[in-house]
Amino acid sequence: MPVTIGALRESAPRETRVSLVPEVVAKLTQAGARVLIERGAGGQANFPDSLYKGTEWADSAGQVLGQADVLTTVQPLSVEQIALLKPSAVLVGYLQPYARFPEVKALRDRKITSFAVELIPRISRAQSMDALSSQAAIAGYKAVLIAADHLPKFLPMLTTAAGTIRPAQVLVIGAGVAGLQAIATARRLGAVVEAYDVRSATREQVKSLGAKFVDTGVSAEGQGGYARELTEEERRKQQEVLDSRIAAADALITTAAVPGRPAPKIVSRAAVERMRPGSVIVDIAAEQGGNCELTRTGENVTHQGVTIIGPVNLPGQLAYNASEMYARNLLNFLRPALNKGELVIDWTDEVFVGACVTREGRIQHEPTRKAIEG
Ligand code: NAD
Repeated sequence: MPVTIGALRESAPRETRVSLVPEVVAKLTQAGARVLIERGAGGQANFPDSLYKGTEWADSAGQVLGQADVLTTVQPLSVEQIALLKPSAVLVGYLQPYARFPEVKALRDRKITSFAVELIPRISRAQSMDALSSQAAIAGYKAVLIAADHLPKFLPMLTTAAGTIRPAQVLVIGAGVAGLQAIATARRLGAVVEAYDVRSATREQVKSLGAKFVDTGVSAEGQGGYARELTEEERRKQQEVLDSRIAAADALITTAAVPGRPAPKIVSRAAVERMRPGSVIVDIAAEQGGNCELTRTGENVTHQGVTIIGPVNLPGQLAYNASEMYARNLLNFLRPALNKGELVIDWTDEVFVGACVTREGRIQHEPTRKAIEG
């Protein structure tokens, strides 16, 4: 019997993406798998059912959950959905293991083999599977478009019969994947861009995109290429330099994150109050609590003429490409395990081991196990 790979119509609020797109389904069926999709799954991402070839259809989520040997998802399943999975099923998607303890316990207790895309090791070989990167790039791009849309100014310099218009100043805080894409997008639109990150490796990357690096004298490399949290002294030092750059910005895009921790607060109320009226902040870190003290997740706030936008699920606002990239990430993750229509996971492969959250009734991801089981 070939392995059945299933996908659902995502039910979480504001989720418009789908985990399998037609191009990826074709590749999975070529690899011998049977693909079962809930009707309408790709509709909100502009992949109508008619585009999917070689797919079998389910009228309800329950049918997919009950039949899939491998279930791909975007958002984490609920405890109720996990209860409907086949006992031996494999689950791949965002699992938010740092936050969703009841769901992780349910996956453990149902003996589900679960893989979190957030935990796929960020090694060269796994770049094509890196959903954090593909979706962060989308968030960075979209954040700049949202800022441009809210600004009462042009981004580029214009020389017109009505005189010269000065280019907008954009400041990007956090130059990871999202931040670098924000810089590139703002530059393409003609803005003058500055950027800042605590990781010194980003200095050259920022410059190579034509932006100026803001040097605060604070460097905070953590483990695995990520940033670490700053000490109080470092935070004060960073703030002194950054506040004057924030005051000069027309648009501020904040993306700073530390894995498994709330987003660092970098933009204070006082700093916002120094910005010019009409300026815009798009806080990509809103879902992790926000980099700006005044951010409200999922809302637009105006404070003394400054608009502060706390977007939720930015990749979902570009659902077609976001789904395409995400589905390719999942295909690249699963393909090495697909052999003549069967799924055989190589448990000596660091990618599968690193991404695994639960298996055989045990929480395999150590930080999650410690957090849940003590
Ligand atoms: P992230 O989303 O965890 O954080 C975004 C950025 O915020 C990071 O650049 C971080 O340094 C920065 N930041 C954290 N605290 C800050 C503070 N107080 N002030 C300013 N900036 C702050 O990062 P990410 O985009 O996921 O990238 C994390 C790392 O992973 C990077 O080193 C990146 O190059 C690496 N990476 C590797 C691969 C790969 O090889 N497969 C793929 C993608 C990313």
